[in-house]
Amino acid sequence: MRLDALTLTHVRMPLARPFVTAHGRLDAREAILLTLQTEGLTVWGECSAGAVPGYTSETLAGAWRWLQEHLAPRWLGRPLPEPAEFLEAMRSELRAHPMALAGFEMALWDARGQLRGQSLAEMLGAARKTVPAGVALGIQDGLDALRQRAETLFAQGYRRLKIKIRPGYDRLPVETLRRAFPDWPLQVDANGAYDRETASSLIALDDFDLLLIEQPFAADDWETHRWLQARMRTPLCLDETILTAEDARRALDEGVCRAINVKPARVGGLQAARAIHDAAMDGLLWVGGMLETGLGRAASLALAALPAFTLPADLSASARYYPRDITQERFCLNPDGSLSVPEGPGLGVHVDAAALRVFTLRQLTVKRH
Ligand code: MG
Repeated sequence: MRLDALTLTHVRMPLARPFVTAHGRLDAREAILLTLQTEGLTVWGECSAGAVPGYTSETLAGAWRWLQEHLAPRWLGRPLPEPAEFLEAMRSELRAHPMALAGFEMALWDARGQLRGQSLAEMLGAARKTVPAGVALGIQDGLDALRQRAETLFAQGYRRLKIKIRPGYDRLPVETLRRAFPDWPLQVDANGAYDRETASSLIALDDFDLLLIEQPFAADDWETHRWLQARMRTPLCLDETILTAEDARRALDEGVCRAINVKPARVGGLQAARAIHDAAMDGLLWVGGMLETGLGRAASLALAALPAFTLPADLSASARYYPRDITQERFCLNPDGSLSVPEGPGLGVHVDAAALRVFTLRQLTVKRH
């Protein structure tokens, strides 16, 4: 079965609400959807690289170019590879374009599942059928707005809340939420916005029984994370810093953190994410979110069903992100605050062609000669 064509679709999907982090404000999510075509089979993947750098240095424009000029010519016309074979062949480029690579790999998993009649969760080795859902709130305009938004999410049944923080917006929002919801698991994410000088306000957060504090310092600053973890009861969690299973192992062994946020997009795909899971099972592990469309969310839910992902995932109901999603299926919260892992073959979701047309900014198909 040869790979006949790769289609790249640049989509722009309006968010239900703007999302504000230490890096800036986002009103719509842009992403690249990948479609691989072989005889009688069409499969999908998603590349989460954003329009502008910020979370990492990978951008949508760079990923698009790499997929078009490098990946497509390399794999078109060849037999469709197994995900493991693809990863092995691309390993040396894992660090350069992890999100583009993850998008292609996702489509290969979809193909493998379609051909074998197996769900992604089954193929990855999932241990459960549902995943406890967490929800993330960006930086809000004022504490009243924060509390009101949190009340709505609490009532919806989310199993834990994460808020974005930055210097000057940390202790007060945490105190406000703790007072309003004394028993609701709560965690914070700084996206690297602190340094040693501003770290004292993080140490003060030890009083609030947080589940974890995520990525307080820059991605490459292992030393300051180690320094802070030694001074705090609350587990530190690394996100941007952890790119490989070796990183994960070293971070836990050296006391740099106790928790790890695993995102397939950041680390180069589902196999790389599973390798982190397998290498770091003694840590507090969970699956993070990149405001994925229904395609990427389906894949992340399958991953989050692996046994050592014990903390609630940053995977919420579709409506939380998008008034209209790209898939026919919409993810809804179960009464126990979980999301169901898709059970159909491959990703287990189907692209809504009408929605795709509405959200498409540009499209390019590369065919084999
Ligand atoms: Mg994060």
